[in-house]
Amino acid sequence: MIQNHRAKKSLGQNFLTNSAIIKKIIEVCDLKKDDVVLEIGPGKGAITEGIASRVKQVLAVEADHTLAKYLHEKFTGTNITVFSEDILKFDFEKLPDNIKLISNLPYNIATPIIEKVIAHRRKFNQFFMMVQLEYGQRMCAVPGNKTYGSFSCFVQYYGLPEILFKIGRGAFQPMPKVQSCFIKYDLFKKLPQEFHIEERLFMIIRTAFQQRRKTILNSLNGFADKASLEKIFVKLGIDSQDRAESLSLGQYIKIAGELDVICHSANL
Ligand code: SAM
Repeated sequence: MIQNHRAKKSLGQNFLTNSAIIKKIIEVCDLKKDDVVLEIGPGKGAITEGIASRVKQVLAVEADHTLAKYLHEKFTGTNITVFSEDILKFDFEKLPDNIKLISNLPYNIATPIIEKVIAHRRKFNQFFMMVQLEYGQRMCAVPGNKTYGSFSCFVQYYGLPEILFKIGRGAFQPMPKVQSCFIKYDLFKKLPQEFHIEERLFMIIRTAFQQRRKTILNSLNGFADKASLEKIFVKLGIDSQDRAESLSLGQYIKIAGELDVICHSANL
């Protein structure tokens, strides 16, 4: 009996059991008849059938072979296809285009999953996910928020994350130690900068946040000499005595652009 299935901590298994939350998730995902949905970690199928009843097809990837087998047998002959696979090894290139991604993410691998989705973002039109509340707040944080950091900038460079609602611990079995939230993450079709700046941009952002206590003039001095950095900050109207957390993603993008010019002219 799948009801007796022992939840595996290593797979982040906290199963959604609150029917009001399940209904709310299905409502907010803006499901359309023609949608093809990729569900990561369907578990016991809490939201899978509700999604499937409103869309063309659901592709569900589950790493727990016992659960995948159960779902496969249950959903044979329906519009739900179950893959007994690790999503981090799953080939996204074999997916059709314009996929809607919905997941109550296994929290322990949320970041590699988000990174993989970003790397294949051409495939996806929308990404709805449940994550730990604090993690979701980090995704959405802006300068001035306690949780603002390099991860916020990374996520917001590629799309627009928004917390749609919070979910209490009691909505799950077994009950997790932390609160959760449901996020809509619209991936941008067009990025603000060319690819060659992206790598430098994230190096700059990570360097600045790794040395939060330093002024940006001091933390970024590995990228250019202080005089050149001062010039850039003056040009961009940024106070060189500011710390990493007071600069917006837009300002980091501008700094990366200016440093790119310097590095190119110096052939770095
Ligand atoms: N969707 C179900 C629900 O809401 O009740 C389960 C959510 S539970 C938080 C996360 C699910 O992801 C589990 O079923 C777990 O087995 C699965 N999972 C964990 N790691 C995975 C991986 N690498 N690839 C695919 N599924 C994974």
